[in-house]
Amino acid sequence: MSKANKEKWVVTSAWPYVNAVPHLGNLIGSTLSADVFARYLRMKGDEVVFVSGSDSHGTPVAVEAKKIGISTEELALKNHQIIKDLHQKWKISFDNYTITHNPTHIKFVQNFYLDIQKNGYITEQEIESLYCENDKLFLPDRFVEGTCPFCKEEAARGDQCDKCQKLLTPLELINPHCAICGKSPTIKKTKHWYLDFPKLEKELKELIEKNDIIPQNAKQMCLNSIEEGLPERSITRDLDWGIPAKFKGAENKTIYVWFEAVLGYISAVKEWAEKIAKDATLFDYFWKDPKTKTVYFIGKDNIIFHLIVFPGLILAYNKDKKDGEKLVLPYNVSSTEFLMYENDKFSKSHGIGIWIDDALKLASVDYWRFSLIFNRPETSDTSFLWSEFENNVKTLNDNIGNFIHRTLTFLNRQYNGIIPKKLKYDAIDQRFIDKINNISNIIGESIETFKLRKALRDIVDFAKEGNVYLNEKAPWHLIKKDKAAAGHVFNICSQAVYALAVLLAPFIPDTSEKILFYLNQPKLSTIEWNSIKENSIKEGTKIKKPEPLFEKLDIEEIKENLNELIKNKIKEGGKELVSYEDFKKLDIRIALIENVEKVPKADKLYKMAIDLGSEKRTLVAGLAEHYKIDDLKGKKIVILANLEPRKLKGITSQGMLLAAVEGDKVSILSPDKDIPLGAKIE
Ligand SMILES: [Zn+2]
Ligand SMILES: [Zn+2]
Repeated sequence: MSKANKEKWVVTSAWPYVNAVPHLGNLIGSTLSADVFARYLRMKGDEVVFVSGSDSHGTPVAVEAKKIGISTEELALKNHQIIKDLHQKWKISFDNYTITHNPTHIKFVQNFYLDIQKNGYITEQEIESLYCENDKLFLPDRFVEGTCPFCKEEAARGDQCDKCQKLLTPLELINPHCAICGKSPTIKKTKHWYLDFPKLEKELKELIEKNDIIPQNAKQMCLNSIEEGLPERSITRDLDWGIPAKFKGAENKTIYVWFEAVLGYISAVKEWAEKIAKDATLFDYFWKDPKTKTVYFIGKDNIIFHLIVFPGLILAYNKDKKDGEKLVLPYNVSSTEFLMYENDKFSKSHGIGIWIDDALKLASVDYWRFSLIFNRPETSDTSFLWSEFENNVKTLNDNIGNFIHRTLTFLNRQYNGIIPKKLKYDAIDQRFIDKINNISNIIGESIETFKLRKALRDIVDFAKEGNVYLNEKAPWHLIKKDKAAAGHVFNICSQAVYALAVLLAPFIPDTSEKILFYLNQPKLSTIEWNSIKENSIKEGTKIKKPEPLFEKLDIEEIKENLNELIKNKIKEGGKELVSYEDFKKLDIRIALIENVEKVPKADKLYKMAIDLGSEKRTLVAGLAEHYKIDDLKGKKIVILANLEPRKLKGITSQGMLLAAVEGDKVSILSPDKDIPLGAKIE
């Protein structure tokens, strides 16, 4: 590829929320599709930075952390690491998968909004907002729940009703209550900072009208939305979890998560340049060169946000800036329709769907990648169906796997694994050779126009043609009278096997790497997209003995395993439910405290002699700050009797006393009726 054709890209995929492991629909809608695109561009020789990260400042993770009693930061970083590791297992080739809770992003966002304010796009307004007197905080978005004013669903949240899908504001809810403590909130006045969208309307309209690259339906959707009028949007929140706003007078306010996560596309490249590529100038090189193409892989529900809100922010930032200081506006979006699961909506609480952690426990990553792209929801909502998954893997096996395995095993058996000489082409050869010489252009064109599903299907058809060619030539008969003629056929087939290794690389990289290994070729990272030729594999190359690339899946068994996984891990609000079998492992009993004494050199600990009816034991418990010795003596308590013994200050504790703990309040459990010592809790 000549240098002149080399292009510069920033490839991005929508940021997963840090509060949940993504499901298959999330993955195909953004991350996996973007990965195929980025891998292809890199092989083509273009310059690419592929970034995304965990969207960490949403309210769900803050609500969840408050409920389980750890810091939001700790929970967000822990979940982020899990999601990051999973993307690695899915072979998503991010140059930087970061989190919005990182110093580069936080600083970038703060300066970005100060710039926009300086440019005259920020207004201030005083509004009424819900406030919880008990928790001493304002209740934006998901911090408040109540009845939906539209459909009367009782579990609607402050930002949206899940039942009727209507967007809500906290003040619209009927009977609102605090999501943390359940109490009714009061109404308080508070000041917020707004983005002046009406001021950007004209420029945005022009921008979208002159863009001939974005899909027509997305373009129309955006124009309609501008036609309806763009309201001023509040960009601050009364929340402590988030990026502190730096506007004068906005102490204790944070930037609304919608308006900062989207800037992660920019700051993630900055962080990559500084920390990973170790060349800070690469940030301007990518983001401030008008020739750079930025592409956003998103679900259809995100179109407006990426084609209006995000470019609006960039326009406001760029105002009065010189060329070379301006950020590039979005080049294109690739949006997918929704993926359903067996014609149902994915739902974690109902155990409907497949999540990307579970998927990899059920089948290897390339089966999933292949199947998800093969059925990518490009033009309409699509369902993941087990029957289709089974068929897709069969398609992979019967066409691609079969052609490659036939070729490689025949070469090993009949030619000692040495690629034979090519002879003169006949018409049948020529037809297949033309295909081989052309195929990377055809597939490349589909990928460049985001028709990933068609690209993959065309690769399968190419392998089918390989099988047809083999059957037409029937080298297994030919070899009996003319070994050189049969060798010629397999030379051509080995070129097609190489072509498949290259073409499949963006889609199923593990399989590609295996094929290249069998062909004794360099590693995938050095292979170029346009290296597919009629003579890519040289005569005399010694190939390796292949193993079958794919295996037949037992779908019934996989489904059973999934049910087992779901049963063991139905998560409700992020917490694992335990089975009754698990509960039965705990031996919880009634005991009597016979004696209590302080543990020397330990302010908080008591050593207790207890009676379990059939035996006596010693317990050590941290109760000294909460109970006096006399209050405990003679009290009936509940203990976990089969906990592993543990040494505290040299004393072995043979069990654990059960108590309710909330903040610094501790209350030990006690039976409310007279019941014999040793009675079991069940
Ligand atoms: Zn509703
Ligand atoms: Zn509250």
